[in-house]
Amino acid sequence: MDVVRGRFAPSPTGPLHFGSLLTALGSYLHCKQQGGQWLIRMEDLDPPREETGAANRILETLAAHGMESDEEVLYQSRRSNHYEQALQQLSDQNLIYGCNCSRKFLSDTSQDYSGIYPGLCRNKQLAKTNRNIRLLTDDKEIIFTDLAQGPYRQNIFSEVGDFILKRRDGFYAYQLAVVVDDSAQHITEVVRGCDLLDNTPRQIYIQQLLAYPRPRYLHLPIATNSKHEKLSKQTRARALQSGKAGKNLFAALQFLNQGPPANLMTAAIADILDWGIEHWSIRSLPQQQKSIKW
Ligand code: GLU
Repeated sequence: MDVVRGRFAPSPTGPLHFGSLLTALGSYLHCKQQGGQWLIRMEDLDPPREETGAANRILETLAAHGMESDEEVLYQSRRSNHYEQALQQLSDQNLIYGCNCSRKFLSDTSQDYSGIYPGLCRNKQLAKTNRNIRLLTDDKEIIFTDLAQGPYRQNIFSEVGDFILKRRDGFYAYQLAVVVDDSAQHITEVVRGCDLLDNTPRQIYIQQLLAYPRPRYLHLPIATNSKHEKLSKQTRARALQSGKAGKNLFAALQFLNQGPPANLMTAAIADILDWGIEHWSIRSLPQQQKSIKW
């Protein structure tokens, strides 16, 4: 049987907040309960959206909460050659093309595309430099069963359209990088927030084209604020305080419905995590996203 390997893959756009702690903790407990290895991958692929120093602060905050990577942290910004190789593999199969439709053109254009790219550049044979590079998608359903959310299906061609793998500004898209790195790091468990559930078929689609194995998926409920917005930098989620790590972990276990006993709140960080590893239960997870005052 495969060695169980999980990962937490934050984008360093701001400090760690309660929402990201839920994902980090969920992936850590899920993986450690199975005696697995847990890795941290820094998804620093989009410099315009990143905040200087955020990557280090995230790692420090995770360490203060008792979670450290079992291997050297992988930085996506240093892995362009791997993404380029994957793109080349797809190009060899004639599955990518250059696209010069701007976002403005697509939204201004009179037809209603409902956000699904209609393949306007599919047959134009445009050069790929300084252009978005899109994946030529096929009319077939991707079906997978999420460990918490159950069966999920999506037809990429009709529900998403040919999606972007590399942007015109030269940056690789999350969808491509995440698939290449999950495979390169031999990840068997992808545990992350439910907001990424509908991205998963796109990732499975790319895995199939590149002949990579499919990991198991577990999408956790996400925390929202009182306006039902996902906690994030954009919604001004507060940074976690390392000095309150025990309290934060306890609150995260409660949010995830794991039923921590009250006396765990004041326990040592290592003891809180040990309790979490022993009692981790996917069946207890709340079904819906929950709002939380944070
Ligand atoms: N970097 C993504 C984020 O911070 C997570 C990607 C993933 O776990 O697949 O939202």
